[in-house]
Amino acid sequence: MEALGGAGIETRLLQPAPLRAAVVARLRGSGAKQAVLLMAHMDVVGVERAHWSVDPFAGEVRDGYLYGRGAIDDKGMLASNLMTMLLLHRAVRAGELSLERDVIFVATSDEEAGGDWGMGWLIANYPELIRAEFALNEGGRTRIVGGKPLYLAVQSAEKVANVLRLTAHGSGGHGSVPLDDNAVARLGRAVAAIHASPLPVRLLPTTRRFFRELSRVWPNEPERVAMADVASDEPARVEHGARVLRAVPLLDATLRTTVSPTMLHAGIAPNVIPTEASATLNVRTLPGHRIDDVVRDLQRIIDDPLVEIAVVDRGEDSPTCDFASPMFVAIAEAAHALNPELIVVPYLGTGATDSARMRRFGVQAFGVLPYPMEQADEERMHGNDERIPLGALEFGTRLIYDAIVRIASTPQTT
Ligand SMILES: [Zn+2]
Repeated sequence: MEALGGAGIETRLLQPAPLRAAVVARLRGSGAKQAVLLMAHMDVVGVERAHWSVDPFAGEVRDGYLYGRGAIDDKGMLASNLMTMLLLHRAVRAGELSLERDVIFVATSDEEAGGDWGMGWLIANYPELIRAEFALNEGGRTRIVGGKPLYLAVQSAEKVANVLRLTAHGSGGHGSVPLDDNAVARLGRAVAAIHASPLPVRLLPTTRRFFRELSRVWPNEPERVAMADVASDEPARVEHGARVLRAVPLLDATLRTTVSPTMLHAGIAPNVIPTEASATLNVRTLPGHRIDDVVRDLQRIIDDPLVEIAVVDRGEDSPTCDFASPMFVAIAEAAHALNPELIVVPYLGTGATDSARMRRFGVQAFGVLPYPMEQADEERMHGNDERIPLGALEFGTRLIYDAIVRIASTPQTT
């Protein structure tokens, strides 16, 4: 806030709720094209302090890493976005750059709690402040494999989170007299059947392109072949490749709508057979896959009229972004300028981010995590000793700055 306002950038501090702030800043362009938005969230998840080797909130630098809660999620991007605004402002003032789009900076503070008081609140109350054609948000990854940066995945679509409840019915009675139609056993059979029958593979343009590009560089041979198979348009090859990739849960989750049983509830006492037993299923649907169709498929798999399925939480679908759009191209060009060997691929996010809201709001939002990292470092996100390599922070900041210059500035005539 002070950094932006102090530099002379038009900045507003908003307060959606007590202890929840939002900062929106804007660099004005000629208006020849619609705005581009830089998004990040300021809030972080909590810490298990006893398991950290440094103070999680001190921002300690050690062995070439910046340690701290939020270093990856999402204060890294917050810092890169802030730096981008300051550098753009400086370049414009020096006459080195002119903008044909407004560049908007947004920092919110409710993302980890669902975002209703963050981007959700801004969209509902200040849509004119954040209206843009394109947005850059968190949600991608830049992966180092075998010591070298291999690919930069730009999240251009995401799965939708839904919650289902299975309820099995049976006769109640005394635990000393077993009954054939025991509801707990019935529920167990239903959950086991669902677990044993993954829903069918469905390739989207995003995932097909993702696997086709990755199959050119992926170091593991069987997985590389499987990726090429999945990206082909021959059903037998797709099926074969998907079977191999089933062993990599994160990749498998991009290929199909997935169902994870997450909670069980049954019974009131050790010696009472309950008449009902229920299970909660976390269902992540592919974009465009209707939850009602999933329910129908699960009913067929369970094949038991005494197991009901209810939709407890129905996720909202959002459009997918075009990976041939100028924003995607700008990100890819910026990445190649920094590292010509880096493969840039569109990516279907398996989790949920604020980008889904933005896409429903009509903004083409792309998710990046432009910091080259090993998988092991990336997995510290939300975990203990979260850290980001200092070199990665610089790489990511350069990438964001360069991508925004490419998308928002007027081409210089020479
Ligand atoms: Zn985040």
